[in-house]
Amino acid sequence: MTDFSLNLNEDQLQIQKWVHDFAEGVIRPVAEEWDEREEFPWPVVEEAAQIGLYGADFLLTAMGDPTGLTLPVAIEELFWGDAGIGMAIMGSALAAAGIAGNGTPEQVMEWAPQCYGTADNVMLGAFCVSEPDAGSDVSSLRTRAVYNEAKDEWTLNGTKAWITNGGIADVHVVVASVDAELKSKGQASFIVPPNTPGLSMGQKYKKHGIRASHTSEVVLDDVKVPGSCLLGGKEKLDAKLARARENVSTGKQPAMATFEATRPAVGAQALGVARAAYEYSLDYAKERVAFGKPIIMNQAIAFKLANMATEIDASRLLIWRAAWLAKNGQFKNGEGSMSKWKASETAVRVTEDAIQILGGYGYTREYPVERWHRDAKIHTIFEGTSEIQQLVISRAISGLRIE
Ligand SMILES: Cc1cc2nc3c(=O)[nH]c(=O)nc-3n(C[C@H](O)[C@H](O)[C@H](O)COP(=O)(O)OP(=O)(O)OC[C@H]3O[C@@H](n4cnc5c(N)ncnc54)[C@H](O)[C@@H]3O)c2cc1C
Repeated sequence: MTDFSLNLNEDQLQIQKWVHDFAEGVIRPVAEEWDEREEFPWPVVEEAAQIGLYGADFLLTAMGDPTGLTLPVAIEELFWGDAGIGMAIMGSALAAAGIAGNGTPEQVMEWAPQCYGTADNVMLGAFCVSEPDAGSDVSSLRTRAVYNEAKDEWTLNGTKAWITNGGIADVHVVVASVDAELKSKGQASFIVPPNTPGLSMGQKYKKHGIRASHTSEVVLDDVKVPGSCLLGGKEKLDAKLARARENVSTGKQPAMATFEATRPAVGAQALGVARAAYEYSLDYAKERVAFGKPIIMNQAIAFKLANMATEIDASRLLIWRAAWLAKNGQFKNGEGSMSKWKASETAVRVTEDAIQILGGYGYTREYPVERWHRDAKIHTIFEGTSEIQQLVISRAISGLRIE
C-alpha cells in the first residue's frame, strides 16, 4: 500500500511536463482546425504514437503506478490541450481497459497491444456497450451472442450506438447478452478481431463537442468469432451463469467493472477542459478594460474566478483520492463516481463562466472558450451520466437500492 500524497514524485512530474509540452506544442495549434473538420485527427495521433504517448506501453506504465496518480495527471494535461483530440488519443484505452478488466492474462497480452498497433502502424480500439435502447440501462442490451459448441465459435448480432472509434477501430470489444433472462448477469465481453466479416460502421454522429473524436454506430451482422475471443474464457462464463441461475451474486458486470475503474480518468478529462477555460479567462479578465479598469477589479468577475479556481481544485482532490483508492483500497462511498460527477459538472459551469467573462468575444468561434464549453458537456453524459453517478453514490452511502 502506498501513502496518499499531494506531492507528485519525479517520474510523475516528468510525465506531466512531457504531456503538457505535447498538448501545448502539437495539440493546441491544430485544435480548432480538427474541431471544424469534425474528422479523426490521424496526423496528431500518429505523432503521439511516435513519441510513445499513444501506445499500450504508456497506458500500462501509467496504469501500473502504485499511487494511481500518473494517469489522471497525464490526462488532465492532454485534455487541457484539447478534449476532441484528447479523446482520439485516449479512446483506445477504454477498449484496453475492457480487455484488462475481463480477459485472462494471455488475452490481455495478445489484444491490449493490438488496440494501439505500433508507432509506424497505428491501430485503434473501441469498447462497444451502449445501444439505441440501452445506454444508462446496460441490463437491457439486445446484442446477442450465441455459442456453437461443435465449432467452438460465437455468433454476434446487434447494433451498438455512440461508439468512440466505432467502425474505424481495428479491435472492437463487444459486450453482448448470452442469456437474456439473466439481464446484466447474463452478459459477456468478446473481442472482434480486425477485419472480421459482418462488423460494419453505421451512421457517424455529428456532435455538439469533442468533434475530433470519431463516434459511430457499430452494426454486428452474424459476426463469427472463435471461442478464444470470449474474454475470461468459457469455463469462467459457465460458472458465472450457473451462479446467476441459482441467484447467487456474481460480482461485477463486465461493462460496469470497466466503467467503475475508468471514472477518475474521465473526471481528469473534464478537469483538463475546466483548467484550460479558467486559465484563459483569468488572463483575459486582467487585460480587458471596461469603465476604465480591468474587468477583474469588479467583484462580480473576480468572485467568478475565485469560484472556478476552488471548484477545479476540489475536483482534482476528489479525482486524485479516487485514483489512489482504486489502487490502494476500494471505493466505499462511490468515490469514483463522486470524482467524475464533480469534475464534469464543474467543467460545464467553469466553461460557461469563461464565456461570460469573455462577453461577446467568448461567444464567437474566434476564441476557444465556446469550443471548451461544447467539449465539457460530454463529460456529464458518457461513461455514466451525472444522474447515474448520483445513483451510485446514494446507493453506496445508504446501502439501499435507491431507484
Ligand atoms: C460522444 C459519445 C461517446 C460515447 N462513447 C461510447 C463508447 O465508446 N462506448 C459505449 O458503450 N458508449 C459510448 N457512449 C454512450 C454513452 O455512454 C451513453 O450515451 C450514456 O451512458 C447515456 O445513455 P443514453 O444516451 O441511452 O441515455 P439514457 O440512459 O436514455 O438517459 C437519458 C436521461 O435519463 C437519465 N436517466 C436514465 N436512467 C435514470 C435513472 N435511473 N435515474 C435518473 N435518471 C436517469 C439520464 O441521466 C439522462 O439524463 C458515448 C456517447 C457519446 C455521446
